[in-house]
Amino acid sequence: MPSFAYAARDQAVPGAGVDTEPVVSKGFGESDFAQVQSERANSETIKHVLELEREQAERARDRMAQGAYGVCEDCGRKVGDERLAALPDATRCVTCQAAWEIANR
Ligand SMILES: [Zn+2]
Repeated sequence: MPSFAYAARDQAVPGAGVDTEPVVSKGFGESDFAQVQSERANSETIKHVLELEREQAERARDRMAQGAYGVCEDCGRKVGDERLAALPDATRCVTCQAAWEIANR
């Protein structure tokens, strides 16, 4: 949220005490706008995540076709059985996946 939204909100409710409802729920225009922006961002994020999941599933199928399913594509070690049970499309071990997510964030 841009900082001007915070500033406008703070000025709009000078009497807001600690015991009142959160300022965000009072229905000021800035908050509604921020809400819409945030929902739009969420649906974009969901679309992006679904796309990534689809790619990841394809990748897992490729790995399977190459006989490399269950082997980490980065370090070549075995991806744990528990991890594969939880995430059948996983193509990296926990360590490499964490590193990949940091690099591709
Ligand atoms: Zn690995």
